[in-house]
Amino acid sequence: MIHPPDRPSALGAGGDNAIAYAIGTVADEWTLLILRHSVRDGTMRPADWQRLLPISNAVLLSRLRHLSDVGVLVPVGDRPGRREFRLSPRGVGLWPFLLCVWAWELTWAGGARPDLTEMRHLGCGAVFRPVLVCRTCGVQVEPREVDAEFGPSGSWPRSTPTATSRRRSSGSTSLGGGFFPETRAVVGNRWSAIMLGAAYLGARRFPDFQRRLGVPATVVADRLRTFSELGVLAPSGDPDRATQSSYHLTDKGRALFPAVITALEWGQRWFVAPEGPAMVLDHGGHRFEAVLVCSACDEALAGRSIETVPAR
Ligand SMILES: [Zn+2]
Ligand SMILES: [Zn+2]
Repeated sequence: MIHPPDRPSALGAGGDNAIAYAIGTVADEWTLLILRHSVRDGTMRPADWQRLLPISNAVLLSRLRHLSDVGVLVPVGDRPGRREFRLSPRGVGLWPFLLCVWAWELTWAGGARPDLTEMRHLGCGAVFRPVLVCRTCGVQVEPREVDAEFGPSGSWPRSTPTATSRRRSSGSTSLGGGFFPETRAVVGNRWSAIMLGAAYLGARRFPDFQRRLGVPATVVADRLRTFSELGVLAPSGDPDRATQSSYHLTDKGRALFPAVITALEWGQRWFVAPEGPAMVLDHGGHRFEAVLVCSACDEALAGRSIETVPAR
């Protein structure tokens, strides 16, 4: 299925839902890097990404094809060798998610990241962080204040991308420090992303993750170890015996909430199942809708009102 770049896709009944499409689109480490450059640099040729990223031609072209199929990038130009890609309205709609990922990385990722720039709000001129606010009540929200439940098109099987929208992951070790090193470890592939989602929905123990998600046991053990090493989940009990420990989100893990919510909202905005939403979010009795505001001036942010400045 090729998805339109400027209006929501009508999904088939009973198939992959909005969550699966959101994960299948952005939970890929190469895609995160490709989109980050698209947002910053506008229309780009494949050669431009290749100059900026240690990406092979085959991997780049497969990601560009996938991003074009899901309607996020639009190819411009008719000569194959001169083709360029720009973000569609659907792709531009990813800015809140990419902003939250960027902010999380700035705040929480350790190690030297000379290429990670700070963010400045043009509205007030201050270096800022995005703050997740409820549109209805206008207050900042914490993960525990938002109740998330599967909606009519929601279930674990329907929220996991199927083979058609899934891409083979390629080795990441060659990427080095680069952009978003921790984000890529946390949400850079579909299993990690869905396990993080399950943690937000209350999965705590090894069997919770495995039974709900149908993820292979070795993958569950591997991701729980990675999340623990990154400090996103904290095990209680013996961390060497992953199957017997229970896990809870740390402050660093909870700080990913805005990224999870903005990815979910993007998915539900652009991929519409006939049964209804995949997930229903409630904030104290009303539907939760996210707004990002500037931490310095409380104004609602817009994609165009943000610029990058060198990190101090
Ligand atoms: Zn509210
Ligand atoms: Zn501001």
